[in-house]
Amino acid sequence: MADPLNNYLNQKLLGEGAYGIVYKARDVRTGQNVALKQIKYVDDNDLPTMAIREIAILKSLRHQNIVDLIAVIQTFQDLKLVFEYVDLDLKKYMDKYGRLTPLQVKFLMRQLLEGLTYMHGKRVMHRDLKPSNLLVSDENMPVLKIADFGLARGAGIQVRQYSHWVVTLWYRCPGVLLGCKKYNYSIDIWSVGCIFYELITNKILFLGQNEKEQIIKIFQTFGASNENIFKGLPLWEKEFINYFGAKSPELLSEFDENGRDLFLKMMKMDPEQRISAKECLEHPYFK
Ligand code: AMP
Repeated sequence: MADPLNNYLNQKLLGEGAYGIVYKARDVRTGQNVALKQIKYVDDNDLPTMAIREIAILKSLRHQNIVDLIAVIQTFQDLKLVFEYVDLDLKKYMDKYGRLTPLQVKFLMRQLLEGLTYMHGKRVMHRDLKPSNLLVSDENMPVLKIADFGLARGAGIQVRQYSHWVVTLWYRCPGVLLGCKKYNYSIDIWSVGCIFYELITNKILFLGQNEKEQIIKIFQTFGASNENIFKGLPLWEKEFINYFGAKSPELLSEFDENGRDLFLKMMKMDPEQRISAKECLEHPYFK
């Protein structure tokens, strides 16, 4: 039987993710570029849990704003995931081009929210949205694809308990930072709000060095004194009550009126109050 790997010609190393090395390769049959993610087996020929999740979830998702998993190739040494190739991630794009125009920001935000609306509709939470997990084409109006589903999982039943060690610190919502294990799709919306701010200003919104510093930065901005919902959470501390949130006006100066309103709806401290991805797309900011 022909080895399916012979169809791909490795070109260069692209990067290393949480559990796999990614190479750029070319499909010799079509000339199309692909990204090959190589996943080594752990003990007893098992695959890392994150890889199993990523494959299962990506196989259930097909959308123009979600990276396409083209094939899965199993060999004796490893498993190779074949993805459509995308030029850059959003972090590298911003490093390369600097400040984006308001139109570029809107274009990227719409695609991110369209991918997310689809995903949430399929009952999948991403749980690690950040610029380096959003792939973009290298052009003036970039096409965006949500990638890296290693931390993603099915949601649905609200009372289920999930791990709170999810979402890269700077994009993690206050409830999860305080150890809340019951959350839902709103966890992704907080991250989108942080990304929105970063796209507009080219600065990271809350740049904490550890969980406590991160939550304090959020409370300094949005206030904790009225947030009764957080008071029973494992990592809540009494001193947090002294944060009244005086810093938000200076954060908002670079948004236009509709952008500001949308941003604040994404950054609601109470997850129940946070806007959904679908509602975001209906917001006047996109009109
Ligand atoms: P990941 O394990 O998904 O975080 O991937 C690690 C790195 O490989 C990313 O930061 C990207 O630079 C690169 N990469 C992943 N997927 C792709 C892709 N589909 N196209 C191009 N580069 C990718």
